[in-house]
Amino acid sequence: MKQRQGIMTLIFAAVLSIGLLGGFTSTADVSAKQTVKVVKVQKVATKAYRATKGYMYNSPKLTKKIHNLKNYPKTTFYSKKRVTIKTTNNKTAYYTYVANKSGKIKGYVYSKYLKLYQPTKTTSTSSSNSQSDNSISTPQVISKSSLSSLIAASPDLDPTGELLSLTSADYKTYQSVFNKNFNVGNYADEGVFTDDQASIYVKSPTLQPYVQKAIDKWNTALGTTVFTLGTAQNHSLTLGFGNGQSEGWDGVFDGDSVQVDYYDFHDRTYPYGPMPLSSSQTIQIKLSTDDTDVDGAAEGMAATRVKQSAATHRDTSAHYLTTTVSGTPTELLENYWVGVITHELGHALGLDHTPYFQDIMAAPASTEDGQSQENAKYDWTTYKDSDNVQGGALTATLSQRDIDRAKLTKLLGYW
Ligand SMILES: [Zn+2]
Repeated sequence: MKQRQGIMTLIFAAVLSIGLLGGFTSTADVSAKQTVKVVKVQKVATKAYRATKGYMYNSPKLTKKIHNLKNYPKTTFYSKKRVTIKTTNNKTAYYTYVANKSGKIKGYVYSKYLKLYQPTKTTSTSSSNSQSDNSISTPQVISKSSLSSLIAASPDLDPTGELLSLTSADYKTYQSVFNKNFNVGNYADEGVFTDDQASIYVKSPTLQPYVQKAIDKWNTALGTTVFTLGTAQNHSLTLGFGNGQSEGWDGVFDGDSVQVDYYDFHDRTYPYGPMPLSSSQTIQIKLSTDDTDVDGAAEGMAATRVKQSAATHRDTSAHYLTTTVSGTPTELLENYWVGVITHELGHALGLDHTPYFQDIMAAPASTEDGQSQENAKYDWTTYKDSDNVQGGALTATLSQRDIDRAKLTKLLGYW
């Protein structure tokens, strides 16, 4: 399934967008000509950060670079306020005003280049057998070994039970442990979620009913309104058609927008081959890497075309997939695209891929086109679940694992 490359493309797109921002941060002359508009200044709670890269600027208008943050890898900065700016090309970016402890090094830093810093060091493994962990000195925080036991007792990549009812200090302290063990991370741009909600502006009316269904799936599963429909004037996330043909995606999420491939969406033979579109009869489509046939009401349909389209499901050479999907042709196509959108919204919630085909967040491999996903408990090159499980994305169905992980990312503060 091509949309499973979304996260790969997401990382790629993130690099691209950082590159674009770099365009006005790294060339002073150009940035001087750029009119940077400060649209919002917010006081924020003081948190400790380390800078990962980039520059510190003297003002939110980014007129002058005052420090290269490469030179301050071990300096802890404290956040004071956050500014939202708009560049000439109307791109929104967030900068945080920070200062070191003495207050001598202070200025504005691109928010994404700041990483929350916990003075109590934690490592990102779950399998520590050490008897004592001296690094955790705060008594109210769960011990590393207790957390490891909880993770070990929970199903693979599925945070359950006590893991979803720890204290906020626990989630803060062990953020990287959670990221690594449950394939999650903070993938949405700052400002996408406010008060645990994101509002989506759907740029094409054609997509509206699909997006509404995807929204309903997450809201119902999580028991809260996490996504709402926004307007052109008032939204935090956009969703529209894009061109995924050359990069091979059906859907992509890049931090504050979701795109759906225009061409495949309008190709009614994609992804299942030709179907009797006007028929209201239920058909079954069996998908397999080795052989593909269509049975039930659709028997006799152009099997060769189905075979071809099954080939397009294979975005990596060796993955294993055998499943049957059923529904009317219209339902099958609708489910497919609702599944794509639901999957991309899952990325917005902070979910990376899993190797379980039944998950909406499934991907056939942890590494695609040579790029590994940002947070992975382990590498995989084939689906882990057995034959004939229902594909979460194909049927637009959230698994319990999808839901539990999204609950975890809320606790981690990613939405
Ligand atoms: Zn994806």
